[in-house]
Amino acid sequence: MGLKPGDQPSLHLTSPGRLQKIDQLRERNIGAYLPLPQLVAVGDQSSGKSSLLESLTGIPFPRGQELCTRYATQITHRREAYRQIDIRIIAGPHAVQDHKTKLESYLKQLETTAQLGKEFPSILTEINALMGIRTIDNPAGENTFSEDVLKIEKCGPDEDYLTIIDVPGIFRTTTEGVTTNRDKELVKNMVKRYIKDNRTIILAVLPSNVDVATQEILTLAEEADAAGDRTLGILTKADLLKELSAKSAVVSLLEGKRKPLKLGYHVVTNRGGDDHGEEEDASAALRERETMFLEDPWDRLPDDRVGIASLRERLGDLLGEITDRAFPKLRTETRDRLANAEKKLKDLGTPRQTEREQQQYLVGIASQFQAIVRAALDADYSAHPAFSRDELRLITAVINTTEQFNVNFQNFARTYHFESKTGIATEEEEDEEDTKDDDDGILHLDMPGIPDPGDFPDLDRIIVTDWAVQSPKTGIMKWIDTVYHRSRGLDLGTFGHGILSTAFREQSAKWEMMTKQYLSLVILVVHRFVLAALEVVCVDTQVLQDLSSTVLGDLGAKYETCMNQAILLVHIERQLKPYTLNHYFNVNQQKSHGVRIKQTLQSKARREYPGDEKRPLVVKLGDVEDAITNKSNAEHAKETIHDILEAYYKVAYKRFVDNVFSQAVDYKLLSGPESPLRLFSEQWVLGLDAEKLRAVAGESRRTRERRERLKKEIEELEVAMQILR
Ligand code: GDP
Ligand code: MG
Repeated sequence: MGLKPGDQPSLHLTSPGRLQKIDQLRERNIGAYLPLPQLVAVGDQSSGKSSLLESLTGIPFPRGQELCTRYATQITHRREAYRQIDIRIIAGPHAVQDHKTKLESYLKQLETTAQLGKEFPSILTEINALMGIRTIDNPAGENTFSEDVLKIEKCGPDEDYLTIIDVPGIFRTTTEGVTTNRDKELVKNMVKRYIKDNRTIILAVLPSNVDVATQEILTLAEEADAAGDRTLGILTKADLLKELSAKSAVVSLLEGKRKPLKLGYHVVTNRGGDDHGEEEDASAALRERETMFLEDPWDRLPDDRVGIASLRERLGDLLGEITDRAFPKLRTETRDRLANAEKKLKDLGTPRQTEREQQQYLVGIASQFQAIVRAALDADYSAHPAFSRDELRLITAVINTTEQFNVNFQNFARTYHFESKTGIATEEEEDEEDTKDDDDGILHLDMPGIPDPGDFPDLDRIIVTDWAVQSPKTGIMKWIDTVYHRSRGLDLGTFGHGILSTAFREQSAKWEMMTKQYLSLVILVVHRFVLAALEVVCVDTQVLQDLSSTVLGDLGAKYETCMNQAILLVHIERQLKPYTLNHYFNVNQQKSHGVRIKQTLQSKARREYPGDEKRPLVVKLGDVEDAITNKSNAEHAKETIHDILEAYYKVAYKRFVDNVFSQAVDYKLLSGPESPLRLFSEQWVLGLDAEKLRAVAGESRRTRERRERLKKEIEELEVAMQILR
């Protein structure tokens, strides 16, 4: 046999360049972002994992029942001119910040493995305490197992690239007072997590003196590595086999005659529990132990399946293969991860720690907001892709609402329908016929596309949410009669100004409510726009929240001003004496007068030449006189009141609707200098005091930490890209 047991460890690497690069990546902490090729020893408790690692790495692991591994241990080798062993702790994936900080400040530095061998027990006691593991030395510990990782880094001039991880052993039966079912699951999941990545070589550690069929690890390995490309069976404790039949059973396993593995098995013999050999003699002791492999039946096996030296060589080859396979993918993954980190950093925006940085940041957002406002008011919807959202198409929604208001107002705002005079139907009368109100004579204003007030509880105090309006009543002449009889004075067919004021006020009784309904709808539309636009310009959700709530306070006051302006306009119309300079008032009134005379004379009319239908109708002048003088003063007065009221109402409501739109909506709510849309502007930002500024734009500690982490990650990944080139 060409076996040279106990030879000085030396890896025969297939791609030393690449392995070295992987080593450099690991040094630069890239393993934290991307899985790197590595070896993981897994198996049952006491199967000999730690002992195997000791044989492979020379690190004198404490072994045995009481010291069975409670956490994963990563052993890394690095070629350096100096000899040094660094011991650190890497916090587990679920560690809280405090625990993490505490663990990561731990560092122990030693020079030789002999020194480590001496100090290891006390070091492990410290580590158990830090991880909070309950042991005899640390009975106050809360955990039996930990997801934190002990990292041992061995540097020296003759170290070869090799990273091996020792994972706690799987166990089937729990021990009262020591391990629970939860621990069992925790360990099993830890093992699964360590072996799942396809860059991990699974060293399935199996004691030779136990039937492989009972070893759960082979099932787990098969689940993680169905193809069997990266699972190697390692049989330990070969020295404990005394019977030839037992030895032969292991040999047949190695020869692939039972339970074959694609990569096969390897047999070793480690330091036993009773050996307390001096560390200096470790390699001599190994050599001594391995002489057993020269005997029957072991000597039947090929050299490369037996002993530590050949195993180490084998692992180097496997690692090289895995690395070659992983290399191109590692490059794309690093690039993707880098791009992703860069995007995340960009989304965090510029750093915002000083007052000036905070101001600049907010001013930037405010000017984007104002650009959207301008485009939304100009219906310039091609200006920003965000305008695909309907709630940002502001002016369109306002105009649609306003037009609907105009039609509704025209048809429903009057308390009584005016008397329709046969002969000429006025424009409005024609429209009225088209209007379909509900059976109960109530119009419901809410139309599709209007925001749900329930979504904006901040506006509760300002807007109305009852959209119902009563239809106008019939019987206007009877009502005018009552008004006239209740208010007439000493007059002869004329009437005092008071009657017209009273009548108009009553006829316009619904104006205030309808106007409030209209303003409420427009305020909802504007408010929804403001919130949506803020969302578009402010990517940071924390800032968005703080900004919205700060802006919201001031917005409410603005909306209230608009509402009050509209109510003022209603009061102006309804409380002043009816008056207008609009000549349509006279035109309308005279038109009505003419219609009435014509109506009265209708019965007296006849054809200019009887029988000739083409000829116009004529009346005798005498009939005209009779017709006009036959009416009582009161009747004449009431007709006049009706006609003047109608003529005035028409002029007044048109004037009013125009004013409400231009003054309350367009000027106060949309385009004027005091509009709520202008509120969140550069000036507003510059007006914020330092405290408010920090509250809105300041970075939370979490954001700052995130930024720092991302920066570090980007730096490290950039280095990784260099290495991988
Ligand atoms: P782990 O729980 O899988 O890490 O197992 P350990 O490495 O702690 O080993 C458990 C016990 O088996 C210890 O007492 C070791 O000394 C012993 N042991 C491990 N490997 C061998 C071996 O190859 N031969 C002998 N005789 N004992 C071994
Ligand atoms: Mg162990």
